[in-house]
Amino acid sequence: MAYLIAVLGGDGIGPEVTAQARRVLEVVAEVGGYDFTFEEGLVGGIAIDRTGTALPEETLALCQRADAILFGAVGGPKWDDPTATVRPEQGLLGLRKGLGLFANLRPVKLNPTLINASTIKPEVLAGTDLVVVRELTGGIYFGERGRRDNGQTAYDTMIYSTYEIERVLRVAFDLARQRRKKVTSVDKANVLECSRLWRETALRIAREYPDVAFENLLVDACAMHLIRRPASFDVIVTENMFGDILTDEASMLAGSMGMLPSASLAEGRRGLYEPIHGSAPDIAGQGIANPIGAILSAALLLRYSLGLEAEARAVEGAVDAVLAEGARTRDIAEPGAEVVDTATMGTLVADRVAQALTQ
Ligand code: NAD
Repeated sequence: MAYLIAVLGGDGIGPEVTAQARRVLEVVAEVGGYDFTFEEGLVGGIAIDRTGTALPEETLALCQRADAILFGAVGGPKWDDPTATVRPEQGLLGLRKGLGLFANLRPVKLNPTLINASTIKPEVLAGTDLVVVRELTGGIYFGERGRRDNGQTAYDTMIYSTYEIERVLRVAFDLARQRRKKVTSVDKANVLECSRLWRETALRIAREYPDVAFENLLVDACAMHLIRRPASFDVIVTENMFGDILTDEASMLAGSMGMLPSASLAEGRRGLYEPIHGSAPDIAGQGIANPIGAILSAALLLRYSLGLEAEARAVEGAVDAVLAEGARTRDIAEPGAEVVDTATMGTLVADRVAQALTQ
C-alpha cells in the first residue's frame, strides 16, 4: 500500500524529535514492504521567517493531500510577542480548522520503569492507562468574544451543537470498545447549558453502547479523581477547554513531558500526530531531547490513519523494551546515570522495531 505522510517539524526540538519518529516509520515501511512517501512542509515560527505566515498555503495543501501528518512543535522566544498578529500557533490552529481535526486523543500510559519520575505516589499510579478525548474545534475557544464598556468588560461565548458533541462522543465510545470498555464523560452540567446538552447527548449515545460502562463526572470532581484514582479511568471524553486543562493534568501522571504522544483526528482516516510537549527552546539544537513522545505519536499514526495495528504495537513494544533495558535521555534519567542523545534513542527504538517485525 502507498501512503503519503506530511512531516512538519516546526520549531525548536520539533525537527529533532520528528526526524527520529520518521526513521521509525521508515523502518516499518522497509521491513513491512509498505510504500511510505514523506514530504516535508514549513509550519510555525520557521514558516513565519521564510514566508510571513505560520501556515503557508503549500503546507495546508500538502496536509490535505496526505494520509497523515507527523508534527513536531511550534513556537519559541523569537516569536513570543502575544500582541503580534502573526504567531506560530496559528499554524497548528489553522491545520485543525483546515483539516477538520475535531477529536484530540491523548493516551497516558505509565511506563513501569519510570514510575518514580512522577510526583504522584507509585501505589496510586500503578496500572494507570487512560486516554483523554478532547473536543478540539468547538466551545469557548471558538465562540464569539469581545469587549464592551470601553474595554472594561470582556466576554467569551461557549457554544456547542448536538452534532459536534455526538461525533466526539462516538470517537470515545468506539475507542473504549477497543480498550477496557469504560467511558467517563466530563462536564459542568450543574452550571452550564452547553454541559446540559453535552450530558443529555452523552446519555443517549451511551445507550447505543450497552457493552461499554459509562459514568458522568463534573469537571472539578474529575480533576480531583485524576490524581486520586488515575488507574480507575479508561476513556475520558470532554469539551475543548476542560480537555485542555485535564490533558495537561493527566500528562503529569507520566512524569515527563517528553514521553507522551497525541493524535488529532478528522472524520475518515486523516489525522495529525504530535508529541504533547512544545518546542523546548531551552534544550533545542543540543541533540538531547527525548524523542519518545514523537515516536509514540508515529505509532498512533500507524494505528489510526494507516490501520497498521501490529506495526503500531511493535513500535510501542520497542519503546518499552528499550526503556526496560535502561536507555534514558537526560529528562528521564536518575541523577548521575548514563544518558543517550536523541539520535541514539531513535536508533535503539528503530532497531528494536526492525527486530520485532522480522521475527
Ligand atoms: P515545552 O513543552 O516546550 O517545555 C517544557 C519543559 O519540558 C522544558 O524544560 C523542556 O526542556 C522540557 N521538555 C519538553 N519536551 C521535552 C523533550 N522531548 N525532551 C526533554 N525535555 C523536554 O513547553 P514551554 O516551555 O511551555 O513552551 C515552549 C514553546 O513551545 C512556547 O513557544 C510554546 O508556545 C510552545 N508550545 C508549542 C506546542 C505545540 O506546538 N503543540 C505545545 C506547547 C508549547
